Amino acid sequence: MEKNIINCHTHAFNFTCVPDAFLSNYVQRIIAQIAAGLLRVRWLSRPVLFLVKALANNKTKKMIDFLLIGTSKSVEDVFTELRKGYQGIYPNARMVILTMNFDYMTQKGSSGLFETQLAMIKDLKRKYPDVCLPFLGIDPRMEEHGVELISYLHSYFNKTNYSGFVGLKLYPSLGFYPFNPQLEKVYSFAEEHSIPMMTHCTPDGAYYADSKVPESLQIPVSFNYLTQYSDLPDGVFEAIQELRQTIMHNLDKKPADFCDFFLHPLNYWDVLDKFPKLKICLAHCGGEETIVGGNKGTTAERWYQNVKEIVTRKAFANTYADVSFVLYRDDVIEAIRKDMDANPLLSQKLLFGTDFFMTTRYVKEFDLVENFRKKIGETYWHQLAIVNPRKYLTSDFFNAQLI
Ligand SMILES: [Zn+2]
Repeated sequence: MEKNIINCHTHAFNFTCVPDAFLSNYVQRIIAQIAAGLLRVRWLSRPVLFLVKALANNKTKKMIDFLLIGTSKSVEDVFTELRKGYQGIYPNARMVILTMNFDYMTQKGSSGLFETQLAMIKDLKRKYPDVCLPFLGIDPRMEEHGVELISYLHSYFNKTNYSGFVGLKLYPSLGFYPFNPQLEKVYSFAEEHSIPMMTHCTPDGAYYADSKVPESLQIPVSFNYLTQYSDLPDGVFEAIQELRQTIMHNLDKKPADFCDFFLHPLNYWDVLDKFPKLKICLAHCGGEETIVGGNKGTTAERWYQNVKEIVTRKAFANTYADVSFVLYRDDVIEAIRKDMDANPLLSQKLLFGTDFFMTTRYVKEFDLVENFRKKIGETYWHQLAIVNPRKYLTSDFFNAQLI
């Protein structure tokens, strides 16, 4: 019998989990305020959403499905919709559910929303203990808001009262760099216990929702500054320097554009230099445009190249990337397949995931899965959807080899 596949990247939350300010990623702030209130009235949500979609700016249109599914359904409904297509062929498919902390996407903050989301996901885990593999969202700003991160991690990851959460999720575009000093202890804990981390790594994403990202968040402060004597591949130190200088010259950029600096794959060298055994997945391989774009642009512009350099580096044995979201394009699948042919090590470091429900705008979840399987071929499918996820997800707290 075929072993159980694992989708390493999905989301299941609804509009009750996000602050009103989230809408300002899509439409003007003033409209966002009004629309957010109306969207929370169930029978109004469809027409209002229709209006929001019509008004949304192009850059953020691809994120609109967060709202489309999220306004009218419960978290369990979203989860059921995700599993619907799988059940015929993969009745025991496992789903990594990534929670996201939106509480600090504005200066004012919105306390409690993330806890609401976690409560819903804990319910889901209770109902579907084998299928649902939740990741806990971590934001370094939790520490300044009274959450002591280490005891927080201990409360979820301990053997006597294990929560069932299997990994940690970062979403830097909401306003922090991966090398934020508050995250050092998180990486240290994760590395020590082989806990898998997932981080969003593509230009664009949900971003800081005030009109300006505060300078205190923009200025890159790292727990591990690299030097020209650090052990890095050729050109990486220079590219990092260039990126940091570009950041300092672009502090006046709007949050929608500035968020790319938070997300950049070059940011992970600081982290991995200090924690080379860290188990971390750079989601989306740096984005579809940079995958099919090949070697175009400067080193700093070649996100996919940077991601590959990190995941195939021998010293970083536990780094991964996933094909979630970007797998909706056949040319992307083709490019990735060729790269795996050329470098077998890469095939051991890529994970299958879909990014449900971000992709549902383009194609139905299950069509996406079957198309990917067909185009990538059986050998790679087995590697990316079964072998690699088991290795990635296994920690001191969870044995994914038994799935
Ligand atoms: Zn995602």
